Amino acid sequence: MDQILKQARLLKAALDEGELTLINAQALRELTAEEVYAFRLAACNNQVDRDLERFTEDTLAELANLFVGRPVLMDHKWSAGSQTARVYAAGVEAMPGVEGGEQLVLRCYMPRLQGNSDTIAAIEGGLLRECSVGVAVSSAVCSICGADRTTTWCEHCKGVEYDGKLCYIELSGAKDAYEVSLLPVPAQPAAGVVKRYGGPEGPDSDPPGDPGVDTAWQDEALLELEKLRF
Ligand SMILES: [Zn+2]
Repeated sequence: MDQILKQARLLKAALDEGELTLINAQALRELTAEEVYAFRLAACNNQVDRDLERFTEDTLAELANLFVGRPVLMDHKWSAGSQTARVYAAGVEAMPGVEGGEQLVLRCYMPRLQGNSDTIAAIEGGLLRECSVGVAVSSAVCSICGADRTTTWCEHCKGVEYDGKLCYIELSGAKDAYEVSLLPVPAQPAAGVVKRYGGPEGPDSDPPGDPGVDTAWQDEALLELEKLRF
């Protein structure tokens, strides 16, 4: 327990006036540094992912704007009825150890209420450290020929090399950011970025089963947020 308390103090110390002002822009009433718990999430980046897709740097910046004010949902096993975390700021930062790597970092907070103590302990203890984001983009461009696969067919297949160049999809034109979910470790195998583009009949529609997003639970969590807001 000593270690957990120490970590909590460090996080509190990192919450300066500027961060608190940003948090209070989202809060219903003025909160003090002692009343909030803040954490950072590396949500997605500009590297080619396991779906053989990557976000462009411009898209990450657009998503940063869209994510401010969005809810942080917890895996339902952890927090049914105590859903209060929110993104209060977001930005694009360099990925440590990855040359040219850029990542979208979401800065999140939750009030230090009794109902949140289990969730805060789980984050501090490293039990909740994977996250999954739900976003929508307008374009999905083939890296070989530049065709926008939301509107056009092309003959290239993701993961195949053409003249030594890997085919992948560049995601651009952020349309919306729905939510970010914290997941318990070990992470669900399908944890990651849930992307939407092109509609259900598009060439690359939603991954099967929408990994990381349980719709019923999401509705419940959003409802809980609405209740707390008023
Ligand atoms: Zn192509």
